[in-house]
Amino acid sequence: MPLKCRPMSAYTHTSPHHVLEHVFGYTAFRGEQQAIVEHVAAGGDALVLMPTGGGKSLCYQVPALLREGTAIVVSPLIALMHDQVSALVEAGVKAAFLNSSLDAEEARRVERALYAGELDLLYVAPERLMTPRFLDQLDHLRDTHRLALFAIDEAHCVSQWGHDFRPEYLQLSILPERYPAIPRIALTATADRQTREEIATRLRLEDARRFISSFDRPNIRYTIVDKDDPRRQLLHFIREEFPSEAGVVYCLSRRKVEETAAWLQEQGINALPYHAGLGQDVRAEHQTRFLREDGIVMVATIAFGMGIDKPDVRFVAHLDLPRSIEGYYQETGRAGRDGLPAQAWMAWGAQDVVQQRRMIDESEASEDFKRLARNRLDVLVGLVEATTCRRQHLLAYFGEESGPCGNCDNCLSPPQTWDATEAARKALSCVYRTGQRYGTGHLIDVLRGERTEKVLERQHEGLSTFGIGSELDEKRWRTVFRQLIAREYLAVDHERYNALALTELARPLLRGEAEFHLRLERERSKGRGKSRSAARMDIPGGVPTTLFDRLRAWRAATAKERNVPAYVIFHDATLREIAIARPTSMAELGGISGIGDRKLEAYGQAIVDLVAEVG
Ligand code: ADP
Ligand code: ZN
Repeated sequence: MPLKCRPMSAYTHTSPHHVLEHVFGYTAFRGEQQAIVEHVAAGGDALVLMPTGGGKSLCYQVPALLREGTAIVVSPLIALMHDQVSALVEAGVKAAFLNSSLDAEEARRVERALYAGELDLLYVAPERLMTPRFLDQLDHLRDTHRLALFAIDEAHCVSQWGHDFRPEYLQLSILPERYPAIPRIALTATADRQTREEIATRLRLEDARRFISSFDRPNIRYTIVDKDDPRRQLLHFIREEFPSEAGVVYCLSRRKVEETAAWLQEQGINALPYHAGLGQDVRAEHQTRFLREDGIVMVATIAFGMGIDKPDVRFVAHLDLPRSIEGYYQETGRAGRDGLPAQAWMAWGAQDVVQQRRMIDESEASEDFKRLARNRLDVLVGLVEATTCRRQHLLAYFGEESGPCGNCDNCLSPPQTWDATEAARKALSCVYRTGQRYGTGHLIDVLRGERTEKVLERQHEGLSTFGIGSELDEKRWRTVFRQLIAREYLAVDHERYNALALTELARPLLRGEAEFHLRLERERSKGRGKSRSAARMDIPGGVPTTLFDRLRAWRAATAKERNVPAYVIFHDATLREIAIARPTSMAELGGISGIGDRKLEAYGQAIVDLVAEVG
């Protein structure tokens, strides 16, 4: 094959800032971005930990344009390479992908472009990268000095302990042997130390410079409510806070996913189900609709989400307790990547904890594994029961110190608690006096002094604890028991009709050496009006809705015509800024964040005209 002379990249001799402004249309780097870009552009290796939505992509995309040759981006999800490449192409970058979704002819075309040095970025699936044929091509690029860098996205896929493990990622360790002079940058949003070390060793990035960002996502508001009528609570939340906006609702089981999606549809919400039991094509279709259409609510199991980089997901809701804090943080992190106000909402009940603990107890896993799973659950219980700032709890878990955030339910309306120490002590001694053989119902009867058949039959009316708890009604007693179980003062014997027995923890409480406080269940939907306006009208003076809606409609039509997701054309944040600034010239429009040279040229006139028309 004749060697074509490589067309010089248009940005090789410019600065990071120049690329940021002219290609991506942004005015400033965020957080660590600039340091990372400079380090990698200068040929250094990097391990980047940044929360979801932190802006990881630019960390390799900008150096890719600054360095001579093609950057190879390893990405685990085929479906999403497509949209990432579309977004780059829209911004005028020469990007392509190679994966099994291409037919032979298309793949050959991409390979030819790669060989000819016409690409700035090439996205590949890890299994493709490792084929001898592809490695040969990389050798050729290396030998002709046209290999810019390797970026390894979702690097936690290399961890065998995480649930996103991809065996092909392990083979990426050959890259430094074969291409020692080529800089590598690995990126992940997984925060825990163990995974971090695993990435460093397995990818041979021990000496890479580490860039660890704060994991705070200040634009996400955390709210955790007590389960009452969870579906209705969810519906109320969606209608109040984000009617007709995109969101994700997580459920544990496939059945619940389907039922919830169907029910939301009946209520007029544009909801779709997603779980691993649906056919491949249904899943793909729902995912594409979620990405491309405005305002779809995806009801899903955790099978959905990794690599979904839709920036305008306004909320993530949990109808079941997530598996761990890491899981919760990753899932909720999918909200508000665009930096605009977003919410993480969860409905939980103490019975969820009991059920999960039971699932752990009854699983076939090793004792070590069960202990880990129990600890993980306990940490989560600490979060949902917290009466102080949720964000502080979350960040503390990831080793970050912070003050009260002012943007979570507990900060916005501090919960009331009641001192339930006396009640708890009565409940525990009632369990003890009745021989640790009865379930909640009967124990409450004894406490409240009910002469039921069972009470009389067992002669429990003669016990010292009979009738000592008549001051609380049954509902309140149920709460006390649920919480005693959730916090492991009481253990449930599922084999024996859910009989309750005391645990080691109960002792200090019984002896009066510990206190027991409970949250007072909140009045429903109180004070919601305020939070709504805070969430939706972030921009001073509000967003002129007519112009904003017209811009959105224009964007939807344009995206459809070009067969790309709406956010690939412009983000909501950009449209909002346009609606407020009402630019009357191309020059003014060019100053708005998110509009680079290529987009200004392609869409600028249409927008200026539209603004003039709406006046
Ligand atoms: P991550 O991969 O870390 O989840 P992305 O790279 O998808 O995050 O970036 C999240 C969003 O933030 C994207 O919509 C991106 O366009 C935007 N973004 C990233 N960096 C900047 C920046 N410096 N200025 C403005 N917007 C940015
Ligand atoms: Zn807070």
